[in-house]
Amino acid sequence: MPKTPALLDETTLQTRIAELGKEIREVYGEDTPITCIGVLKGSIIFLSDLVRCIDGPVELEFLGVSSYRGTESTGEVRITHDLHNSIAGKHVLVVEDIVDTGLTLSYLRDMLEVREPASLRVVALLDKPSRRTSPVQVEFIGFEIPDAFVVGYGLDLDERYRNLPYVGIYQGD
Ligand code: 5GP
Repeated sequence: MPKTPALLDETTLQTRIAELGKEIREVYGEDTPITCIGVLKGSIIFLSDLVRCIDGPVELEFLGVSSYRGTESTGEVRITHDLHNSIAGKHVLVVEDIVDTGLTLSYLRDMLEVREPASLRVVALLDKPSRRTSPVQVEFIGFEIPDAFVVGYGLDLDERYRNLPYVGIYQGD
Protein backbone atom coordinates (compact mmCIF):
# COMPACT_ATOMS: atom_id res chain seq x y z
CA MET A 1 0.00 0.00 0.00
CA PRO A 2 1.20 3.54 -0.70
CA LYS A 3 2.21 5.75 2.22
CA THR A 4 -0.76 8.07 2.27
CA PRO A 5 -1.92 8.84 5.80
CA ALA A 6 -5.54 9.94 5.86
CA LEU A 7 -6.15 13.65 6.20
CA LEU A 8 -9.92 13.32 5.71
CA ASP A 9 -11.50 9.93 6.27
CA GLU A 10 -14.68 8.64 4.61
CA THR A 11 -17.03 9.63 7.44
CA THR A 12 -15.60 13.14 7.66
CA LEU A 13 -15.96 13.57 3.89
CA GLN A 14 -19.54 12.28 3.72
CA THR A 15 -20.71 14.34 6.72
CA ARG A 16 -19.38 17.58 5.23
CA ILE A 17 -20.66 16.78 1.74
CA ALA A 18 -24.18 16.24 3.10
CA GLU A 19 -23.97 19.68 4.75
CA LEU A 20 -22.70 21.24 1.54
CA GLY A 21 -25.60 19.74 -0.43
CA LYS A 22 -28.09 21.35 1.94
CA GLU A 23 -26.27 24.72 1.95
CA ILE A 24 -26.20 24.73 -1.84
CA ARG A 25 -29.92 23.97 -2.22
CA GLU A 26 -30.78 26.68 0.31
CA VAL A 27 -28.83 29.29 -1.64
CA TYR A 28 -30.40 28.37 -5.01
CA GLY A 29 -33.92 27.89 -3.69
CA GLU A 30 -36.11 24.80 -3.75
CA ASP A 31 -37.07 24.51 -7.44
CA THR A 32 -34.15 26.11 -9.27
CA PRO A 33 -32.44 23.74 -11.69
CA ILE A 34 -28.70 23.73 -10.97
CA THR A 35 -26.27 22.92 -13.77
CA CYS A 36 -23.37 21.23 -12.01
CA ILE A 37 -20.18 21.34 -14.07
CA GLY A 38 -17.73 18.69 -12.94
CA VAL A 39 -14.15 19.61 -13.68
CA LEU A 40 -12.50 16.45 -14.98
CA LYS A 41 -11.08 14.32 -13.74
CA GLY A 42 -10.37 15.14 -10.10
CA SER A 43 -13.89 16.22 -9.12
CA ILE A 44 -15.90 13.23 -10.34
CA ILE A 45 -16.06 11.28 -7.10
CA PHE A 46 -16.89 14.41 -5.10
CA LEU A 47 -19.45 15.40 -7.76
CA SER A 48 -21.20 12.04 -7.68
CA ASP A 49 -21.51 12.12 -3.89
CA LEU A 50 -22.43 15.82 -3.79
CA VAL A 51 -25.28 15.71 -6.34
CA ARG A 52 -26.93 12.95 -4.34
CA CYS A 53 -27.00 15.36 -1.38
CA ILE A 54 -28.68 18.16 -3.37
CA ASP A 55 -32.47 17.83 -3.48
CA GLY A 56 -34.46 18.95 -6.50
CA PRO A 57 -33.48 19.51 -10.12
CA VAL A 58 -29.82 19.09 -11.05
CA GLU A 59 -28.22 18.79 -14.48
CA LEU A 60 -24.70 17.51 -15.14
CA GLU A 61 -22.03 18.79 -17.49
CA PHE A 62 -18.31 18.11 -17.66
CA LEU A 63 -15.34 20.24 -18.48
CA GLY A 64 -11.88 18.79 -19.00
CA VAL A 65 -9.00 20.91 -17.79
CA SER A 66 -5.34 20.16 -17.48
CA SER A 67 -2.99 22.31 -15.42
CA TYR A 68 -0.67 19.98 -13.56
CA ARG A 69 2.27 17.70 -14.28
CA GLY A 70 3.40 15.57 -11.33
CA THR A 71 3.26 17.49 -8.08
CA GLU A 72 3.94 20.96 -9.53
CA SER A 73 1.72 23.26 -11.57
CA THR A 74 2.90 24.11 -15.08
CA GLY A 75 1.16 27.46 -14.77
CA GLU A 76 -0.76 26.65 -17.96
CA VAL A 77 -4.47 25.83 -18.22
CA ARG A 78 -5.73 23.83 -21.20
CA ILE A 79 -9.31 22.82 -22.01
CA THR A 80 -9.26 19.14 -22.92
CA HIS A 81 -13.05 18.59 -23.06
CA ASP A 82 -15.66 21.31 -23.54
CA LEU A 83 -19.30 21.40 -22.37
CA HIS A 84 -21.90 19.61 -24.48
CA ASN A 85 -24.68 22.14 -23.95
CA SER A 86 -25.01 25.91 -23.74
CA ILE A 87 -25.06 27.35 -20.23
CA ALA A 88 -26.64 30.65 -21.31
CA GLY A 89 -29.40 31.52 -18.83
CA LYS A 90 -28.57 28.54 -16.58
CA HIS A 91 -27.67 28.57 -12.90
CA VAL A 92 -24.20 27.09 -12.98
CA LEU A 93 -22.29 25.48 -10.14
CA VAL A 94 -18.70 24.59 -10.97
CA VAL A 95 -17.60 21.54 -8.96
CA GLU A 96 -13.85 21.50 -8.31
CA ASP A 97 -11.71 19.05 -6.38
CA ILE A 98 -9.18 21.52 -4.99
CA VAL A 99 -8.22 25.16 -5.28
CA ASP A 100 -4.49 25.60 -4.93
CA THR A 101 -2.91 28.64 -6.64
CA GLY A 102 -6.36 29.60 -7.99
CA LEU A 103 -5.05 29.80 -11.54
CA THR A 104 -7.31 27.08 -12.96
CA LEU A 105 -10.44 28.43 -11.36
CA SER A 106 -9.74 32.06 -12.33
CA TYR A 107 -9.37 30.90 -15.91
CA LEU A 108 -12.56 28.81 -15.73
CA ARG A 109 -14.65 31.55 -14.12
CA ASP A 110 -13.63 34.02 -16.85
CA MET A 111 -14.25 31.47 -19.59
CA LEU A 112 -17.70 30.50 -18.29
CA GLU A 113 -18.82 34.05 -17.45
CA VAL A 114 -18.50 34.96 -21.15
CA ARG A 115 -21.12 32.29 -21.94
CA GLU A 116 -23.71 34.30 -19.99
CA PRO A 117 -25.06 31.91 -17.35
CA ALA A 118 -27.87 33.30 -15.16
CA SER A 119 -25.51 32.79 -12.21
CA LEU A 120 -22.10 31.28 -11.64
CA ARG A 121 -20.90 29.81 -8.37
CA VAL A 122 -18.14 27.41 -7.38
CA VAL A 123 -17.94 24.59 -4.88
CA ALA A 124 -14.54 23.15 -4.07
CA LEU A 125 -14.05 20.13 -1.85
CA LEU A 126 -10.61 21.31 -0.73
CA ASP A 127 -8.95 24.68 -0.44
CA LYS A 128 -5.27 25.41 0.14
CA PRO A 129 -5.51 29.16 0.87
CA SER A 130 -1.82 29.49 1.76
CA ARG A 131 -0.89 28.67 -1.85
CA ARG A 132 -3.09 31.26 -3.56
CA THR A 133 -1.46 33.44 -6.21
CA SER A 134 -4.60 34.19 -8.28
CA PRO A 135 -7.31 35.51 -5.94
CA VAL A 136 -10.56 33.84 -6.94
CA GLN A 137 -14.08 33.65 -5.55
CA VAL A 138 -15.18 30.24 -4.18
CA GLU A 139 -18.72 30.30 -2.81
CA PHE A 140 -18.73 26.89 -1.11
CA ILE A 141 -15.70 25.16 0.44
CA GLY A 142 -15.64 21.69 1.93
CA PHE A 143 -12.38 21.81 3.87
CA GLU A 144 -9.43 24.14 4.20
CA ILE A 145 -6.25 22.09 4.21
CA PRO A 146 -2.56 22.87 4.82
CA ASP A 147 0.03 23.12 2.06
CA ALA A 148 0.56 19.43 1.34
CA PHE A 149 0.11 17.38 -1.83
CA VAL A 150 -3.00 15.28 -1.36
CA VAL A 151 -4.32 12.28 -3.27
CA GLY A 152 -7.38 10.07 -3.18
CA TYR A 153 -11.14 10.56 -3.48
CA GLY A 154 -10.63 11.57 -7.13
CA LEU A 155 -7.32 13.36 -6.72
CA ASP A 156 -4.36 11.83 -8.50
CA LEU A 157 -0.63 11.82 -8.83
CA ASP A 158 0.03 11.12 -12.51
CA GLU A 159 -3.35 9.28 -12.74
CA ARG A 160 -2.74 7.10 -9.66
CA TYR A 161 -4.56 7.06 -6.32
CA ARG A 162 -7.89 8.48 -7.55
CA ASN A 163 -9.63 5.38 -6.18
CA LEU A 164 -8.50 5.78 -2.57
CA PRO A 165 -11.75 6.22 -0.61
CA TYR A 166 -10.24 8.96 1.56
CA VAL A 167 -8.09 12.08 1.07
CA GLY A 168 -4.51 11.35 2.10
CA ILE A 169 -1.23 13.22 2.17
CA TYR A 170 1.13 11.88 -0.46
CA GLN A 171 4.46 10.98 1.08
CA GLY A 172 6.17 9.14 -1.74
CA ASP A 173 6.04 5.49 -2.86
P1 5GP B 1 -4.56 25.57 -9.18
O1 5GP B 1 -4.76 26.05 -10.59
O2 5GP B 1 -5.54 26.15 -8.20
O3 5GP B 1 -3.14 25.78 -8.74
O4 5GP B 1 -4.70 24.02 -9.19
C1 5GP B 1 -5.88 23.40 -9.42
C2 5GP B 1 -5.68 21.96 -9.85
O5 5GP B 1 -4.38 21.46 -9.49
C3 5GP B 1 -6.67 21.07 -9.13
O6 5GP B 1 -7.88 21.00 -9.82
C4 5GP B 1 -5.91 19.76 -9.09
O7 5GP B 1 -6.12 19.04 -10.28
C5 5GP B 1 -4.46 20.15 -9.01
N1 5GP B 1 -3.96 20.14 -7.62
C6 5GP B 1 -3.68 21.20 -6.82
N2 5GP B 1 -3.26 20.80 -5.61
C7 5GP B 1 -3.29 19.45 -5.64
C8 5GP B 1 -2.99 18.44 -4.66
O8 5GP B 1 -2.60 18.67 -3.50
N3 5GP B 1 -3.17 17.16 -5.07
C9 5GP B 1 -3.58 16.83 -6.32
N4 5GP B 1 -3.72 15.53 -6.60
N5 5GP B 1 -3.88 17.74 -7.24
C10 5GP B 1 -3.74 19.04 -6.92
